[in-house]
Amino acid sequence: MSSKEELYKVLLETSPYGTLFFVYGVCIECNHKAITLLGCERNHLIGASLDEISGDESSALIDLKLQLKRAVNSDQKRLQWHCPQPSGDSVDIDLCIESVPNNPREFVVTLIEARDNQVAQPVPESQPTPQVQNIPEEPAAELPASEPEQQLHVAMDAAAEVVEESPVESVVEPVKEEITELEQTLSEPLPESADSRQTHQERVFDGLTKLPNRQFLIEALDKYFDSTRDREICGALLMIDLDNFKDINDSWGHTVGDQVVKKVGSAIAHIVRGDNVLARLGGDEFVLFIPQISDSVSQAAWDAQAMAEKVRESIATPIFIDGHELILTASIGIALLTDRELTSERALQYADSAMYESKRKGRNGIAFFDPYITEKAQRQIGLNIRLRKALDNQEFALYIQPQIEVGTGRVMGGEALLRWVNTEKSHNMPSEFIPVLESSGLIVNVGHWVIRTACEYLRNFIDEGLWRDGMQMGINISPRQFRDPQLLEVVQHSITSYNVDPRHLNFEVTENLLIEDVDEVVSKMKAIKSLGSCFSIDDFGIGYSSMIYLKRLPFDHLKIDREFIRNIHRDPESRGVVEAIMAVSRQYGLQVIAEGVENAEALNVLTKVGCDSYQGAHYSMPVPVDRFRELLVA
Ligand code: C2E
Ligand code: MG
Ligand code: MG
Repeated sequence: MSSKEELYKVLLETSPYGTLFFVYGVCIECNHKAITLLGCERNHLIGASLDEISGDESSALIDLKLQLKRAVNSDQKRLQWHCPQPSGDSVDIDLCIESVPNNPREFVVTLIEARDNQVAQPVPESQPTPQVQNIPEEPAAELPASEPEQQLHVAMDAAAEVVEESPVESVVEPVKEEITELEQTLSEPLPESADSRQTHQERVFDGLTKLPNRQFLIEALDKYFDSTRDREICGALLMIDLDNFKDINDSWGHTVGDQVVKKVGSAIAHIVRGDNVLARLGGDEFVLFIPQISDSVSQAAWDAQAMAEKVRESIATPIFIDGHELILTASIGIALLTDRELTSERALQYADSAMYESKRKGRNGIAFFDPYITEKAQRQIGLNIRLRKALDNQEFALYIQPQIEVGTGRVMGGEALLRWVNTEKSHNMPSEFIPVLESSGLIVNVGHWVIRTACEYLRNFIDEGLWRDGMQMGINISPRQFRDPQLLEVVQHSITSYNVDPRHLNFEVTENLLIEDVDEVVSKMKAIKSLGSCFSIDDFGIGYSSMIYLKRLPFDHLKIDREFIRNIHRDPESRGVVEAIMAVSRQYGLQVIAEGVENAEALNVLTKVGCDSYQGAHYSMPVPVDRFRELLVA
């Protein structure tokens, strides 16, 4: 520590006021007075984040966070605060927030006790002093809606406007004459005799609801696509599926189920316009085909959404069956018919996949068909099939990226990274195939192979005298792998088979893992650590990662996400984040590794902020094992 820094420390500690330093909403420094006033321990304060509340924090600290969050959001610099005490009383405190010049995301908080206050500056009149009491009742209401939520509201509002603005449409029930007219234009030539007319009716109408059936719909769509080949089209197809209809059928029987379907059919039919086709495909599945939903393609999505909202409203109107009131919801998938090259079957598939997307998102919703999602899903299915055989076909390889000690420039070990050299001899990106391994569960077996192979490499390096004490091999463990009940056994087995010291292994996990039961994760980590191995938290970044996990989980290393390292030499914000991470890591005794160091300038900054080690293109990208061996020898 430089003498200047020591001087600051003395100044901070001898200050009569509680002082805390926040960076990006995380407390990275505080003095003893602050600890006393807030009635907590130093390690509760360092790393405390304004965005999170953890169970072991004092009520004074929790309340302080709420006040600070509010003050920062409203750009308030001073306020009076009743700091709750364990006795139940409170201490009156004058709370000052001072931003660091040119960096509003870094600020110092000073806590001045009321009696000190008499000598301190009075709160200026012009600044409103809120009468802040103890813990507010509904802190959650304070928080702004998350972004997607806001977007959804905007979309909903816009959709509601569309509904209101559109001229009142004549509400037409699908009366017999009209259907016959439509049918006439669709299924020519119309059979003459009453008998054959009857059979045709049966062929294109649904017996239960008397609505058009799938056949009718397909014919209408075919005709539509044929007649619109040479002009801009703006139609829509809404796939409507009742939520939990099976429950109604199961618990009330099929007769009631049929009645429900009939009532729903006629409820939707009430909002159907003249040239629209409402068909029942079967079960509880309806399709609304709107040939011309708007005049422009850009408007089509809004109008389709507005129409879907109307359909949902009509379905949500309570229906009465046998004296029981039923309130139904539906999931609706929308395919926009704005592409002249579409076919009827394809359009129906699109609407269907959108409907499933809406169900997947939690039912009672509306989703649009997104060609990107479908394409991605198809690619993943294709990948999945190929990946199933990849392990047997020995198509995986384990590359290693060296990790370098910042202070000495020496190789301290490496991170094992999976590569898939598939039969087409091209290298697939881990960012593409690892999520597929993860979602299909194949990662468990592939992960076992990775652990064994890493141990085998280690054995060779040790035998060749290339692996010093203190060197470590990083192995990534995905959430699914971590949950695998055999993980501990596999690790133990690999360690004994290759007779390697477990201290050479360092398991990297990301915080995705920790969404699940944290206590279970902790006990599993402890079991593996008891063998002698270490754990790193991977891809860490303040504001993105949770500070709480650092406190609760027994990590040894912290790996700073590439995102913050990439521009660290030219972006003060990245540097600020990294400095804050360094401060918090020191508090928790974590070794810090920077990922993605691509040039000397970045390394230079990392040296200044005291980072322990790094990996990245500046030294070497991940390489095959033989090349890594050469790097160890060098
Ligand atoms: P990760 O664990 O964060 O690995 C670091 C990633 O950063 C690697 O990507 C590495 O190639 C890349 N990288 C390192 N230095 C640089 C640099 O200077 N510039 C750039 N642009 N990139 C750099 P990779 O190999 O594509 O792996 C991606 C992710 O896939 C890994 O991220 C890890 O989460 C996962 N993964 C890789 N191998 C395995 C494995 O065996 N098991 C599991 N479960 N996951 C793995
Ligand atoms: Mg990693
Ligand atoms: Mg990483």
